[in-house]
Amino acid sequence: MNSTIVSNLEWLQDRIRQAARAGGRDPAQVRLVAVSKTQPAAAVNAAVAAGQTLFGENRVQEARYKIPQVTGSSVDWHLIGPLQRNKVKVAVELFQMIHSVDSVALAEDINRRVPGPDPLPVLLQINVGREPQKHGLLPEETAAALEAIAPLSRIAVKGLMTIPPFEPDPEMVRPHFRALADLAQRLERLNLPGVSMAELSMGMSHDFEAAVAEGATLVRIGTALFGERSTRP
Ligand SMILES: *Cc1c(COP(=O)(O)O)cnc(C)c1O
Repeated sequence: MNSTIVSNLEWLQDRIRQAARAGGRDPAQVRLVAVSKTQPAAAVNAAVAAGQTLFGENRVQEARYKIPQVTGSSVDWHLIGPLQRNKVKVAVELFQMIHSVDSVALAEDINRRVPGPDPLPVLLQINVGREPQKHGLLPEETAAALEAIAPLSRIAVKGLMTIPPFEPDPEMVRPHFRALADLAQRLERLNLPGVSMAELSMGMSHDFEAAVAEGATLVRIGTALFGERSTRP
């Protein structure tokens, strides 16, 4: 077992617990998504051996190759990166949740491909920082998109996800996390059938504590667990 991964995992869980308590939250409501993109299956297996059961990948092709090499029966995989239309069919078979639904058209594609009988949990990706180069619905587009997506019976919206602008100081990212939590609260009041806003996927290696303080339920952490990535994601 890789001792660095074991100690990083312990350290992260500790920090997540402390950030949750400091924010007046129940630590059990925050799950760590171990982001294993560019990492070999051996690193994932080391994390599994240390008790980690939830992993995130950002590319379907890479996940398709890696997932069969991971041992352990109760491991869940979340897609956290952009999903191209021609990869939807494979993605719905590989992943237990898709964090990156950023259009009604993509939601409809996923809905057509989910084999069923259970609906596939998805999150709507929101571009809270309004960055032109980033994926995601703009906050003001989200209610209309959600109204169109809610009736799709083979997907179940569980909440929102964001990749905020990078700021060297995590405290500067905090308003973006708060904006996502506020948006989720507003959307919840629409009371759309089958739609939940329970999950907030936000926070990465350098800013997860601020995200947890603002209500994150899924923190997506790569480098702080596995170390620097050797290749570009
Ligand atoms: C790579 C990635 C992460 C993890 O980033 P780290 O800084 O390595 O923790 C989180 N979310 C998404 C969408 C990513 O692509």
